[in-house]
Amino acid sequence: MPALAYVSLGSNIGDSLSNLQQAIRLLDETAGVKVKSVSSVYETDPVGYEDQQVFLNIAAGVETNLSPDELLVRCLEIEQTLGRERVIRWGPRAIDLDVLLYDDEQLETERLTIPHPRMHERSFVLVPLLELNPSLIHPVLHQPFSELLTDTSGVRLFKETERQKPEVFLSL
Ligand code: ATP
Ligand code: MG
Ligand code: MG
Repeated sequence: MPALAYVSLGSNIGDSLSNLQQAIRLLDETAGVKVKSVSSVYETDPVGYEDQQVFLNIAAGVETNLSPDELLVRCLEIEQTLGRERVIRWGPRAIDLDVLLYDDEQLETERLTIPHPRMHERSFVLVPLLELNPSLIHPVLHQPFSELLTDTSGVRLFKETERQKPEVFLSL
């Protein structure tokens, strides 16, 4: 049985919508990964390091036969392919792919923590994620993500997609 994982994607350099679309395409073209759903696109105010452009953010639901670590490695490869350079922590980037959830698993290694350790305090992550599945529960805090989402200011709908279909997102 494949696992169901959720990935958060963000971009604020270059053509951000196109960067997100290319990342989804590359994920879906990965052997052992099938993108099942993609949220609407949200425009979000930067958090952590605020002196930068607004972001576009989405969440994607993927069915995968890859292990959590293999999925992370693939996400980091896609960032490299799309030209991400790490300069400032939480600073501007062409593309960021974070693994949010992998079934209900909890794991912590040197390079991977699941659930993503900061996801529950980020509305730019939770708003798109909850659009894909409003009843998701945090597998460690055992709280519904809908209750963890408190302040949605700073997250605005940029482009709505119909019924979360990846092909609709790719044709935006
Ligand atoms: P944040 O993690 O706060 O969203 P960021 O996404 O900008 O910040 P990156 O520079 O993309 O941080 O990633 C730094 C490292 O985080 C990666 O090289 C990866 O090894 C590690 N990491 C740990 N857990 C995860 C996860 N769940 N998803 C993605 N990266 C993770
Ligand atoms: Mg991130
Ligand atoms: Mg990241």
